[in-house]
Amino acid sequence: MKILVSNDDGITSPGIIELVNALKKIGEVTVVAPVSEQSAVGHAITMKNPLRITEHFVDGNFFGYAIDGTPADCIKIGIKNILKHKPDIVVSGINNGSNAAINIIYSGTVSAAREAAIMDIPAIAISVTNHLVTDFKFAGEIAAKLTTMVAKQGLPCETMLNVNVPDLPQNQIKGILITQQGKSKWDESFIERTDPFGQKYYWLAGKLMEKDNDLTADHFASREGYVSVTPIHFDLTDYKMLDEMKSWNIEEVINVNK
Ligand code: MN
Repeated sequence: MKILVSNDDGITSPGIIELVNALKKIGEVTVVAPVSEQSAVGHAITMKNPLRITEHFVDGNFFGYAIDGTPADCIKIGIKNILKHKPDIVVSGINNGSNAAINIIYSGTVSAAREAAIMDIPAIAISVTNHLVTDFKFAGEIAAKLTTMVAKQGLPCETMLNVNVPDLPQNQIKGILITQQGKSKWDESFIERTDPFGQKYYWLAGKLMEKDNDLTADHFASREGYVSVTPIHFDLTDYKMLDEMKSWNIEEVINVNK
């Protein structure tokens, strides 16, 4: 099995090293990851600047290809110019911090996997729900087992799996649940400070406002100690509203001057 690995925390992050260690046991791994941290860049792609590919070594051994771009760039250039063919699966992570609820939209980790889904390649994004993770080993094992399962079961075109693993000792994990994207959103504010030159600057801060209170939601399930697995796709159409809007007299919008 040919596995392409990427992330948004950068090619030197401990999470990607543990992911590669776990996936090497089940397949042939190629790493194409951002040279620097790209958390919360979402599905951005680089169009106005060139991209450079550099070989990255760990302890003198070749580890993978570093790209001075976004996670989505890594998947595009990784498949077009490095692998030169589609891998069997793309795995993105292991991210430092939860990627559930609204964070799925902002996440670079999820976007790397979603770029693979756009290319009809099965993909998994995996995160540990703490920004100060010390041990990615358990999440690495989950990633490897789920990769094997996805390879066997397959995924529909344009669908990927988003996985959140609680940052708990393995014996405190309560189980694994298939969930949906939760409704929690950020209550945000910009902290205003002054730089050494007297100019004001602003730094985004916020708190996730809990909108979910049952185990069907990704964020709630992982917070309660369950590994959360959510199938997601990138078709943003609201099908319920599509039906409802058939009763709108939408023609009026273009007939205003008649
Ligand atoms: Mn990240």
